[in-house]
Amino acid sequence: MPSNTAASDCTKLIATLCLDTAFHHPADRCCCPERGPHLLTSVTREPRQDRESLASSSLPQMLEPGTAVQYVKGIGPKVAEVLAAKGIRTVDDLVHYLPFRYEDRLNPRGIGELRAGEMATVIAEVRTSGLFRTRRMPIFQMTAGQGTARLKCIWFNASYLKDKFKPGQMVALYGKVDRGRNGELQIVQPQVEILGDLTEEGGEDAADQKLAQSLEIGRIVPIYEATGQGRLTSRWFRRVIRYALDNLPPEMPDAIPAMVCAHLNLMSPREALVKVHWPDEGESREDLQASRTPAHIRLIFEELFFTELGLELKRRQQKAQSGIAFNLDERARSAIKKILPFHPTNAQKRVLKEIASDMEKPSPMRRLLQGDVGSGKTIVAFQAAIIAIENGYQVALMAPTEILATQHYLSARRILENAGYRIVLLTGSLEQDRKRDIRRHVAQGNAQLVIGTHALLEEKVEFEKPGLIIVDEQHRFGVLQRLKLMKKGGDVGDTQPEPDVLVMTATPIPRTLALTLYGDLDISVLDELPPGRTPIVTRRVSDDRATEVWSFVRKQVAAGNQAYIVYPVIEENEETELKAAMKMYKELSQRVFPDLKVSVLHGRLDAELKDQIMRLFQRGEIQVLVSTTVIEVGVDVPNASLMVIEHAERFGLSQLHQLRGRIGRGAAKSFCILMTGGKVSEVGERRLDAMVRTNDGFQIAELDLELRGPGEFFGTKQAGMPSFRVANLIRDRQLLEAAKREAAAVLEGPNSEISQAEIDRAIRYMRMKWQHSYGLVEVG
Ligand code: ADP
Ligand code: MG
Repeated sequence: MPSNTAASDCTKLIATLCLDTAFHHPADRCCCPERGPHLLTSVTREPRQDRESLASSSLPQMLEPGTAVQYVKGIGPKVAEVLAAKGIRTVDDLVHYLPFRYEDRLNPRGIGELRAGEMATVIAEVRTSGLFRTRRMPIFQMTAGQGTARLKCIWFNASYLKDKFKPGQMVALYGKVDRGRNGELQIVQPQVEILGDLTEEGGEDAADQKLAQSLEIGRIVPIYEATGQGRLTSRWFRRVIRYALDNLPPEMPDAIPAMVCAHLNLMSPREALVKVHWPDEGESREDLQASRTPAHIRLIFEELFFTELGLELKRRQQKAQSGIAFNLDERARSAIKKILPFHPTNAQKRVLKEIASDMEKPSPMRRLLQGDVGSGKTIVAFQAAIIAIENGYQVALMAPTEILATQHYLSARRILENAGYRIVLLTGSLEQDRKRDIRRHVAQGNAQLVIGTHALLEEKVEFEKPGLIIVDEQHRFGVLQRLKLMKKGGDVGDTQPEPDVLVMTATPIPRTLALTLYGDLDISVLDELPPGRTPIVTRRVSDDRATEVWSFVRKQVAAGNQAYIVYPVIEENEETELKAAMKMYKELSQRVFPDLKVSVLHGRLDAELKDQIMRLFQRGEIQVLVSTTVIEVGVDVPNASLMVIEHAERFGLSQLHQLRGRIGRGAAKSFCILMTGGKVSEVGERRLDAMVRTNDGFQIAELDLELRGPGEFFGTKQAGMPSFRVANLIRDRQLLEAAKREAAAVLEGPNSEISQAEIDRAIRYMRMKWQHSYGLVEVG
């Protein structure tokens, strides 16, 4: 989907999500008072007339949270643009730009008392500085002094510091103290901040020095991530944030209901903002660095609470719509049982019960079914389909690719057609005439189960009587498409009730993401594999033992099994020394396994050839398949019992797990061999360790999330994750759980603990926040 449509969808969705728009446009209600000393350094100073014109067009002086940052003293349109790129648009965003660490300048250390090995803050005067060129790199050196004591500071590759310091400037240095070659104390690569100039005329003015005195010395000082190519420094942020806080109303109403504040013992919003930027002297240093002070907790909880309130409200609204109350009578029950080719697992039984009970209710089902690869989701989906069909409704089943849609179609025919259900496959590659035919069948209600890619949404497919929409491999669709899909369900006809929706995903979703990305859905989990599968044995070896690995491959093949050998790239590349699929295919087929049937599969082959190769492999006519990650979404080959992954250190954790999911599908014991070549990073080590230790997709997903961060985790950025300003889904998992619990409790009210007015206020505020965070989301 092109991003512009996605973006406009996004806007539309927001409109529907945010029932009313309470978000104030700030520009028309704020001002930029021109008062107080000039606080800015020359780099960030905006042209004078800018600020005068603003000042003259505006009246009183208070800022409000919704005020655009541009109207904060010291921020002009250009700087506002730089900030906008960081997601800082309003005063509220600005004051939620939290320090990433704190420096203890309460008791800065005397140079004389420093010890090698400790982290220390030193405030001293610049004596000399200069750039030295060595054979390997330019080195910048500065000597700072206190009286007669000297401290050497060194920065590698730091030509950019060349003209930064002047003798006489006061600087704050922070870093690890160690001993130089001659035994003298030094700090290598310290964080440095110029505090002011003691000597020069016209350097920093008196007011600025005074400000530095109060903001930068003799306290715990907040350190912000610089931005705008370093132009907006930590020091600059300190000043504008301080200004914003000073000019926000002294009392900020708390939108979190008193009941919730009491449960969590939350600090007031105003106090939290002040303390998070300007901590009290006595605040625990560890809590500060870990974002665990009461001030941090208040701000983080607030963000998570309103997100969860939004999702919970959405969930309840969906429930309040009128859906279809399917009838689960004897006939439907026996129809469901009849199609089963095997005994369902306990997990399958439990999940079907959850789905069926949703379907029986008059409110529309909105359920996510999670289950690891091979846990048997398809049959559960078919059973749900039967309930709808037996009630006289139509079912749509969508998959992200044609291969998967076709695979579902074939299994549906195998499993359901005997029972006389009418099933059609509708994909983009069909001829126009054929498509038109099928669409007509669907529109007239002849087709009971329609299987296709999600082009089913785009193409004008009208259902006569839609009852259930099933989306497979949901994570590939993303949250916005999902919302669109559900709306589509509702679009089918305003007089018809909302169809039920079941979304399925094979990528286990860590609970924190499930609570946010999918917080508006009910969740079912298939946490049990069908019987008869022996767990895959995973081993890790260095590639200098390749010979042993190849003889193991040979042994497996001799026993009648098949093997995959996976490489990270197709062709050799000069910059990396990675082994490539094409070259290794030659080597393996000609030198190592000249007597075996070896073939190669990669993404640059055309679709037909790929299909052909997969089919040959499936039929056992290829014994060893050399490939890239294209087999991730592939066809089932139960006879493949061995997977060798070369350069395993190069793959993402979830990707390794998905790859491994291609084996272990048959009766034979399966092996996954992770070969490493070259040096493995620390994160790489953790990934490989996890793979060897567990086959549990949920554990792997949790660790992958931790290693990569929510943004990278299967492209959640593209999937429309709300962007959090202060919360971190990995660090703040417990607060997220608490937020969800409290949000639900609030919506259970009014009761003795909470009034309707408080609930309304929280919801109004949430709508404003909700739009704000989704409005900023980048849609990929
Ligand atoms: P996924 O959850 O990855 O979509 P599938 O639904 O494709 O998994 O099921 C994987 C394989 O397991 C299929 O071949 C399916 O027929 C088989 N299967 C599913 N449930 C059972 C069961 N209860 N007993 C035995 N085999 C099962
Ligand atoms: Mg599946």
